[in-house]
Amino acid sequence: MTISDIERLIEPAEAADEAVLEITLRPQNLVEFVGQEQIKQNLTVAIQAAKKRNESLEHILLYGNPGLGKTTLASIIAREMRASIKITSGPALEKVGDLAAILSNLQPGEILFIDEIHRLNKTIEEVLYPALEDYSLDIILGKGPAARTIRMPLNRFTLIGATTKLSMISNPLRDRFGHTYHLNFYEIADIERIINRNANLLSVRLDEASRPLIAARSRRTPRIANRLLKRIRDVAEIDNNGLIDTHVTGKAFGMLGIDEFGLDEIDRRLLSFLIEKFNGGPVGLNTLSAAIAEEMDTIETVYEPFLLQIGFLERTPRGRRATAAAYSHLGFDAPKAQTLL
Ligand code: ADP
Repeated sequence: MTISDIERLIEPAEAADEAVLEITLRPQNLVEFVGQEQIKQNLTVAIQAAKKRNESLEHILLYGNPGLGKTTLASIIAREMRASIKITSGPALEKVGDLAAILSNLQPGEILFIDEIHRLNKTIEEVLYPALEDYSLDIILGKGPAARTIRMPLNRFTLIGATTKLSMISNPLRDRFGHTYHLNFYEIADIERIINRNANLLSVRLDEASRPLIAARSRRTPRIANRLLKRIRDVAEIDNNGLIDTHVTGKAFGMLGIDEFGLDEIDRRLLSFLIEKFNGGPVGLNTLSAAIAEEMDTIETVYEPFLLQIGFLERTPRGRRATAAAYSHLGFDAPKAQTLL
């Protein structure tokens, strides 16, 4: 494998951002990273201790829903450790050789970030075990009875794995992380701080009354807050000389089809389907997926967590159910059996 093949598997930290704006908005250090106080405290201690001992950090597993800051946090950890970072993802690593090439090229103290680590295939995952534990790579030479294994030493490095599905990480892999942090949905006050910070960074004029309106519709997720702010800024530029006020905000949400809880058309379709066709449920994930034409994985990782969080959806052993709160939000009369939910 050549260096350019390895580069295909690894995104340089900067190029990983889709747009220049994303780079502008990404917090650069732990102080700029809003919220998640407990994680920040623990990380600060771990980073300071590792630096003091002149060692690399123990491997870190970050889990939480999309857009809550896992990639951002990984880049911040690298910067705080003054280490460089290589970024790849579970699905990008197709062959054992892909991962072996990346690992054997890591410099001492370097950070390897594997996004969607739950999607690593099993044989590739097994290559990671000795790499994480003993900083070595087991290479099998030859085939059949003549095959033999040689051990190749690696530089000490830190793996930061990110996942939206902790339950899909095997126990042997999970056990090899020294730290596991769960990123939760953000407090509304933190989302407001993020909106404020980003409005400043983008030189957007935002009136006081609009900020809570945007925060309330951000699904308590920084990436969504950023996205909404950018869309509303576009409307403000055309309609209101760039000033974001409540009128512009309301108009933009109308155009985006986002309601006061931050639900979009797909959330509403999902809940309406449960209510209208299945008397609220329970309905299995595959039926739901076929009915609203969204991948099961997308429903599970993008839509469902927030609907569960705000109490519009329940997961039961027999499937998903719409709650009384969902009935009332969408303007349906709750059937008798549902009123108790
Ligand atoms: P994930 O990797 O969990 O999907 P990202 O790290 O890509 O999420 O975060 C998405 C965007 O949200 C980033 O570009 C960043 O600007 C913003 N963001 C995430 N977490 C925070 C935070 N705690 N404070 C400020 N902005 C944040």
